[in-house]
Amino acid sequence: MGVFDDLVGQERAAGTLRRAAAAGAELLAGGRGSGMTHAWLFTGPPGSGREEAARAFAAALFCPDQGCGHCDVCHQVAIGSHPDLEVVRPQGLSYGVKDTRRLILRAAGAPTLGGWRVVLFEDADRATEGASNALLKAIEEPPPKTVWLLCAPSPDDMMITIRSRCRVVTLVTPPTAAVAHVLATRENVPPETAASAARAAQGHLDRARRLALDAEARRRREDVLSIPASLTGVGECVAAAERLVKTADEEAAAVTSILNEAETAELRKVYGEGSTGKGLNKGLVRGGAGAMKDLEDRQKSRATRTKRDVIDAALLDLVALYRDVLAVQFGAPVELANDDRRAELDALARSSSPEDTLRRIDAIMLCRRRLSANVNPQMAVEAMTLSLRNPRL
Ligand SMILES: [Zn+2]
Repeated sequence: MGVFDDLVGQERAAGTLRRAAAAGAELLAGGRGSGMTHAWLFTGPPGSGREEAARAFAAALFCPDQGCGHCDVCHQVAIGSHPDLEVVRPQGLSYGVKDTRRLILRAAGAPTLGGWRVVLFEDADRATEGASNALLKAIEEPPPKTVWLLCAPSPDDMMITIRSRCRVVTLVTPPTAAVAHVLATRENVPPETAASAARAAQGHLDRARRLALDAEARRRREDVLSIPASLTGVGECVAAAERLVKTADEEAAAVTSILNEAETAELRKVYGEGSTGKGLNKGLVRGGAGAMKDLEDRQKSRATRTKRDVIDAALLDLVALYRDVLAVQFGAPVELANDDRRAELDALARSSSPEDTLRRIDAIMLCRRRLSANVNPQMAVEAMTLSLRNPRL
């Protein structure tokens, strides 16, 4: 059982990466190592496991057995403590040129252990234009032992000049059955719950895991899915929009506050609180104020992004619901993501035409675009719920 066996439903990509890791080992041993290259782009829909695949590949490059999954090296990669692996995880909405330049400098250093030096750049599509240009120069002329692993939803999310210099690894949406199997075997989720969580998450492994293990997440999802059937009048639409945004606020706050507290405590420790016994202020005078401000800015940016991600996940649930409605309207023999809400699907299907349903799906997609263009969430969501209104229900 190696690191690539953990990738769910990605047999093809795993095969490519296995061969590349073998070629990489050959290259380090002085051989030709054709099939190994210095810049990789991992793409795939959300939840397909881009970062997991990149991490598995990193482990395979470091591990003497090319990713056995159980040696010290593999373990270090898994927990992020390998000295030659640098993981970049943009916390805000974008990753700037200053951070990128610093990263490139670190990436150019000689490997501590004499093998590869690997940079795993999660959400590389968040790199700004300036950052992308800096990155391009770095991957155009990589130091002989440096390997870049960039992750992005699709190749189109990266500058074409970067994309053309990377070998693209395409991950696919894992089949529902594969996701259910993983939940049942690795997380001990009862098979029935595993199957329904996998179906609801439509191949998004992390989301399926959360739905299977977290009752609160299941409840929030139910809240979102009950929205369409409630949208009979304008008042209901406005109220539903308010509820959706408020729930997103709460969920984002729950996610970020834990991270914030830990980071702030860490920074306070660095800048003297505790060591002087005089609290934070004395420490701040010694240069911590800038760092604290910097951290607060980053935390604010992360909160915005998290809230946006939470709303986006809710909108995707709604898209899936209307897609089910459309399937019912056409009598299409496909797996329904919301098979457990069959009566509601039927009611929505009966009270509208397929054209209405398509128009509603468009309205949700428009809302997603508006949110990613920084439109006020309350306004964007309200415009959407008004478009979803169905007085014939
Ligand atoms: Zn290993």
